[in-house]
Amino acid sequence: MSTHTESLFSPAPLPVTAEQPVPLGMGFAQVALRKPLRQEFTYSIPEQFKGKVLPGMRVAVPFGSRREVGVVVEVSASSDIESKRVRKIAALLDDEPALDPGLLELTRWVAGYYACAWGEALGAVLPSSLKREKGVRRVLYISARKGVSDALRELEDKFPKQHRLLRTLLELEEPIELRDITRQLNMSQAPARSLERRELVHIEKVASSPDPLLASSRERSRPETLGSQQAAAVQAISARVNAGGYETFLLQGVTGSGKTEVYLRVIEAALEKDRGAIVLVPEIALTPQTVGWFRSRFGEVAVMHSRMTDAQRLDMWQRVRSGELRVVVGARSAIFAPVPNLGVIVVDEEHEPSFKQATSPRYSARDVAVVRAQQIGAICILGSATPSLETWHNARAGRYSQLILSERVGGGTLPRVEIVDMCQEKGSANGPPMFSRRLRRLLKERLEKKQQSILFLNRRGFAPVLWCPGCHETLQCQSCDVALTFHRRIGRAVCHSCCEEISPPSDCPACTRPGLKYLGLGAERVEEQLALLLPEARVARMDSDTMRRREDYEETLEAFGRGDLDVLVGTQMIAKGLDFPRVTLVGIVSADSALHLPDFRASERTFQLLAQVAGRAGRGQERGEIVVQTRNPSHPAIVRAASHDFEGFASAEENLREELGYPPHGRLIRAVFEDEDEQRVIEASEACAGFMREHTAPPDVLVLGPAPAAIAQVRGRHRHHILLKAPQITAGLRRARSILIRFSTEHQRPRLTIDVDPVSLL
Ligand code: ADP
Ligand code: ZN
Repeated sequence: MSTHTESLFSPAPLPVTAEQPVPLGMGFAQVALRKPLRQEFTYSIPEQFKGKVLPGMRVAVPFGSRREVGVVVEVSASSDIESKRVRKIAALLDDEPALDPGLLELTRWVAGYYACAWGEALGAVLPSSLKREKGVRRVLYISARKGVSDALRELEDKFPKQHRLLRTLLELEEPIELRDITRQLNMSQAPARSLERRELVHIEKVASSPDPLLASSRERSRPETLGSQQAAAVQAISARVNAGGYETFLLQGVTGSGKTEVYLRVIEAALEKDRGAIVLVPEIALTPQTVGWFRSRFGEVAVMHSRMTDAQRLDMWQRVRSGELRVVVGARSAIFAPVPNLGVIVVDEEHEPSFKQATSPRYSARDVAVVRAQQIGAICILGSATPSLETWHNARAGRYSQLILSERVGGGTLPRVEIVDMCQEKGSANGPPMFSRRLRRLLKERLEKKQQSILFLNRRGFAPVLWCPGCHETLQCQSCDVALTFHRRIGRAVCHSCCEEISPPSDCPACTRPGLKYLGLGAERVEEQLALLLPEARVARMDSDTMRRREDYEETLEAFGRGDLDVLVGTQMIAKGLDFPRVTLVGIVSADSALHLPDFRASERTFQLLAQVAGRAGRGQERGEIVVQTRNPSHPAIVRAASHDFEGFASAEENLREELGYPPHGRLIRAVFEDEDEQRVIEASEACAGFMREHTAPPDVLVLGPAPAAIAQVRGRHRHHILLKAPQITAGLRRARSILIRFSTEHQRPRLTIDVDPVSLL
């Protein structure tokens, strides 16, 4: 049995070489299984498979009393395990390796670095139908039956989950994929089955539907000439593609500077050399618009995203693996696409936190992109208008080559940004104003000129706080340490952590005083106020409450693009990659929502969000205007974003990080202990921290905590965390990490999550 914990943080040499023929004497296989156990298992190769088993092939093996599908990672002549205790491979599922040696090596690195099992990392690569012995799972759609709304009231008290599901289905009117809706509502499929038994919903199998992302959409012609900065970037990167070998480029280009055209030209150069490409974009930016640019240049491209059906995913995977499709466009997990002879990896909007996966394996697709390029001698392009400080720092340290596009295509100017101090605006008896005088005037003006506006607020619902003026308590979720948000349209108070909801009580539950107040701003409230301000405007709201189905999202964007809407109100869903030339005004209703999060990246996130949202305006002929409303008008993140001064922001922020020892000046590993029983959490986390302190020493490693996490309870589970801080990857940090791994494999409770390079500390 081999463990790989020693290879942590440093790519080890290739463990497998599939090109070499396997001698017939090879009698044992190491198999990685999708279990959190961080080890591989030895099986013997029965006579009929001798000489046929290669690393990268899938096998079925007995495990306990069950049969599991695993991946062979190594074959050997002998085993140090007593031979009668070794069990046999039950079936060989592939004629040829499903995974090439490069992907095996990459997943081995992922497992080592991110502290998960090799089998779990392999699970991120294989499409789900290849992870089961019995092929493709059918897709289920669910819809409410006609005339069942009366049932809602009966369900409300006794079966809150069924109530929530049925109500959402009634709002939707159209069938939706069962897996999607239950994921969005954070519930299992059991409530759906109960509703089916009550004959309130239909659940039906459908033949897989065509992927809407493959529908043809607005296309772009290939521009005849490039801007001088664009041309220089294409020239520098293509030279590297032609010469061969590894290099990572930071393509730092302001919004509208034509980064996509640089990607397209570089990929053209790679295809000339018969090398394939992967382009990663944030899930939310993966629209028919984005895919269309690549299709209009390269013909058919592979698209990979989280909402594909099993059958679609398998089909894409196989066509990429066979070399039929040479260009892959996808979200996070497409970094593992099996592109033969991969030459270029692009990560667009590389600063996006969504490139980090929140469940095991907790990898950062951006960082895996760099490692993959390094391992196979490819080039990697990290593109952004607002690079993460980590990437920016790597570029300044000379590890990445920095290319700058400081001008918008066609000489378009960056929008004028105006900061409005909301403390100076007069409110009414009902509280502070939502729109400043300035924003109100500009909104009216745009409507008269038949130009479009975007209003941005990074918060769902109507009011984020229900507050009692008597005892000053706010209404909290029963099972999470989170305030409930009032959602007006459904008339419910919703927990944004666990998705549970209640009818808001009319009296304060703490002091029984009647009359809870609805405080603060949500996107729903913005939409309502806008309707009062501009009754004749055509408005749509885009957030995860209104855009449950992918089609809703696409339809709304299309309507906006056609000019059928005047104003788009939305959350971060509208911040990404949209390119609508008629938008000349962006109002940021409150820039403060991300500023006060208890996270060392709060300023960075605020800067990025403001720059991204502001980048949506003035992409056509007319100059755009941005109004940033804030109660912190002199905060550096806001001031620098308003003056488009990324460098100024980044240098100041980097100095702060250096003082505090936070990334990019140092490494973090976070360990979260969770359990219903708080005492258990406290004891285990303290024991773990004590043990790590005994075996490490500052400044090599600093063990901070344990302490209750910022969100100290989720779904009834108490959460305490430990933060490991190190100036770089040190021996001590590896030791501390091994201690955490050992704890998590030896204990079922409390649950321990190990997060290497965390992007959120909440
Ligand atoms: P970014 O991703 O940097 O924000 P985009 O790639 O969306 O910018 O490009 C902005 C717009 O400029 C797009 O409509 C694109 O088609 C156009 N564009 C890019 N390069 C050129 C060029 N060389 N000539 C003319 N138009 C271009
Ligand atoms: Zn909750």
